[in-house]
Parts: sequence; structure tokens; C-alpha cells
Amino acid sequence: MTATGHAQHTLRELVTLSGVGVHSGAPVTVVCRPAPAGAGITLARADLPAARPVAARVASVTDSTRGVTLGGSNGVRTVEHLLAAAWGVGITNLHVDVDGAELPALDGSAAPFCLAFEDAGLAEQDGVLDPLAPAEPVWVQRASAWVLALPAERFRATYIVALSSAALGIQVIDVEMDRRRFVREFAPARTWGFVEELQALRAAGLARGASEENALAIGPQGYIGTPRFVDEPARHKVLDLIGDLSLLGRPLHAHVIAFGAGHALHIELARRLAG
Ligand SMILES: [Zn+2]
Repeated sequence: MTATGHAQHTLRELVTLSGVGVHSGAPVTVVCRPAPAGAGITLARADLPAARPVAARVASVTDSTRGVTLGGSNGVRTVEHLLAAAWGVGITNLHVDVDGAELPALDGSAAPFCLAFEDAGLAEQDGVLDPLAPAEPVWVQRASAWVLALPAERFRATYIVALSSAALGIQVIDVEMDRRRFVREFAPARTWGFVEELQALRAAGLARGASEENALAIGPQGYIGTPRFVDEPARHKVLDLIGDLSLLGRPLHAHVIAFGAGHALHIELARRLAG
């Protein structure tokens, strides 16, 4: 792909989804509305009319532990799956109203957002977005985990996940990602976690909305329940990576390689790339 611009799109009509937040467990309704060309993706707290809408950009990230929060205490938590779905469907301009502090977990994946967006349909808009194409390698590292972005003609992701469950071992995904492939093969991959970590998270007041319906649990013997893909955890990591890197607000032409990483490192890489 040459470095020509990418077309902008928004939704043709409103999309409304309801569910509970994975961490808060609180019921919430999200309304996604069309937005003008050049607006990007913004989120607003419908329950806090005085709070300013927050841009889905890396500069708005206030927390990246176990999910991405934009805009602090008056902002919105766990935005990454909706953002990944917007990327997958090709939505670049969108206004999201949410009547709570966390987006709904739905089934723990990006698929329900993708389906709803596809049902509503897209409208092409004027103006193009220029890709971000790093000329040099950019990387971030914390202890043994790292993420590296190499110059490339288009977006490619390689993700290595070393699962502590001996039955599952190491999972590797390497994909030249296009939108159709993302929607089909990556968006349905659910949030996952180790059973013993889930208990610790609950003790810390997190994961209150996590259930068998919206998360894939992993125990010492492997998956508890039926995975949607044999390598569902690695696929979900790629989904999270795409949602997080979409905060660049531009298409990324790079080969991103991640080892044992998560939201915090994805966001740190995005900050360097945006830098
Ligand atoms: Zn996720």
C-alpha cells in the first residue's frame, strides 16, 4: 500500500447497546451517533452533562491497567473493545454517549459492537486520514515484556503470549491485518484470565461484571469452558492491541511485534509513535 490517505467513515444511523461493565458490574447503555468528517471518535458521559466529551486519543488516556480509561474520573473506562470494533468496521468519526463510567462488556469481545455497527451501515465522508508510518524502529519494554514497531508498508501484528497454564503453553499470532479478517477472525475473541487472578481481582473490587458469558477462564489444566478459537487468548491480545493503537487516530503502517505485553505497553508504544 502506498502512503495515500485512508477514507473517513461514520455510522449511517444510531446504534444503542446495553450491558454491564466488566469491572464495575454496573448496568450501562451506550449510544453511538454519527459524527462529522474530521471529528474523530469522542465519548461523553450522558449521566454527567457538565463533563466535557473526551477524545479517543492517546493524550486522553489516564489509566491503562487491565483496560484503557479515557478522561479520568469524569471519563469512560474499558473503551478498547468498542474502539477495536470501530477500527475493524472502518469507522473513523463517531460520537459515543454512555450513561456510566464503564462501557458494557457484552460478550467480552468486540463482535457485538462490530455486528451493531455493520447493521447500522457506514457513510463515506470527505477528506482522508494520512497514515502514520514510523521511519525507524520504536520499542518499549518493561521487565521481560516488550512491544516493537518496525517500519512496514502496511499494518501487521505478531503477538506472543506465554500462558502460565502448562496445558496451553505459548501462543503466537502473526497476521497481515485487514478489516474483514479482523471482524471475522479476531473481533469474536473474548477477554480471558486465569482463575486464580480472577479471585484476586474480585478481592480488589475489580472484575465484578466478569462471568462465563463474557470471559474465557483458564485454569492449570487449560481452558474452563469452550474457547471460540484454539488460540483465543492470543487473538484477544491482538484485538486489544488494535483498539489501543487506534488511539493514534490515524492508520498505522508498521509491523508491531509484542511479547507478553498488555494495555500499559500498548499505550506506551502509542505515546512514542504519536510523539
Ligand atoms: Zn480486551
